[in-house]
Amino acid sequence: MAKTYKQIMDEAKQLVPEVSPEQVKARLDKGERPVLLDVREKEEVRQGYVPGAVSVPRGFLEMRVEETIPDKKTPIVAYCAGGTRSLLAGRILKELGYTNVVSMRGGFGAWKNQGLPIKEDRQFTAEQQIRYSRHFLLPEVGEAGQAKLLDAKVLLIGAGGLGSPAAFYLAAAGVGTLGIVDMDTVDLSNLQRQILHTNDRVGMPKTESARLTLQALNPDVKILEFRERLSSENAFRIFEQFDIVVNGCDNFPTRYLANDACVMLHKPLVDGAIWQFEGQATVFYPPQGPCYRCLFPEPPPPGAVPSCAEAGVLGVLPGLVGCVQALEAIKLILGQGTPLIGRMMHFETLASEVRILKLRRDPKCVVCGEHPTVTKLIDYEMFCGLGDANGNGAGPGGEHESDRPQPSA
Ligand SMILES: [Zn+2]
Repeated sequence: MAKTYKQIMDEAKQLVPEVSPEQVKARLDKGERPVLLDVREKEEVRQGYVPGAVSVPRGFLEMRVEETIPDKKTPIVAYCAGGTRSLLAGRILKELGYTNVVSMRGGFGAWKNQGLPIKEDRQFTAEQQIRYSRHFLLPEVGEAGQAKLLDAKVLLIGAGGLGSPAAFYLAAAGVGTLGIVDMDTVDLSNLQRQILHTNDRVGMPKTESARLTLQALNPDVKILEFRERLSSENAFRIFEQFDIVVNGCDNFPTRYLANDACVMLHKPLVDGAIWQFEGQATVFYPPQGPCYRCLFPEPPPPGAVPSCAEAGVLGVLPGLVGCVQALEAIKLILGQGTPLIGRMMHFETLASEVRILKLRRDPKCVVCGEHPTVTKLIDYEMFCGLGDANGNGAGPGGEHESDRPQPSA
């Protein structure tokens, strides 16, 4: 026989004990950690929730709860806005075999009216809800992850071959602040690979061209331009303003400077390098993994390696490596997945081979080791003579001149 709503509610009350918000608070204060299961709709959760609560909207409960709470003996406190939907949810949870379920009487409304602590997530605009909707669908990102991305500050060294795709994807993903260090101007020969720049911007400062492109893509992103040559004088001042540094430089002096500054400030350096048809990416972040000097303690002598301009580079290659750099930066911001710390992804594009090399930290490293001998920043171009004609440390191409011998796998 069909049941009325009242009968269903009465049954639910029989099955699912109700507790008051004060009782829930008292359990939490005692150090108990029941799962606080918020069964309201996303839009309601956005207005505030009980700190630590897990959101599974009532409409998705049967589909998602076993994934969210695999152990059916887990103590669960279900709540909604007023206490009705959570009772009905509790009934379903019992049917699914959960043995320790209660419903919070009066729901979030009663909790809030008692003056108990609540948390509010970042309020996304209607436009942001659409723009980032594909991120919101991923549990690993979601609204909390998107808020982290919007709050994150990433510095790109160079708006060239590597910096272009990296910055493009970081901006698209909604990384809220992007700094770009580059003192060069757009050259026609850059356009074969440096996709931030366009034909009509030849001669324009690269940071300006980058800002125009990135803000046209996503107005949420704030661009900080550093139209200066990276040196021991300004590296700390610039790096300090950011959480992560993405290295797209094309020369050894800047590579060593960026490495040393990141080690000293304890910031992750997402590194990339390309050479003709080969590329590689890694994350230098001691002590979890090596820094660049763990692998190559000192720069090569001047003139020992040809520059990108002399060697040539396949147009699409920096796109591959720069995208891996953007991906690694986003993983670090979200705290998701396994970053490329202590590992290097190596691309051999002609053979279509991708390898992962293990990189080891050197406990005797001159900068990140136990007894460092490099304790202040060094401007190697002073005696390397590797800077380009403009003395631009960040370099014109945004590419690394060469890979030196690979550490073995
Ligand atoms: Zn090191």
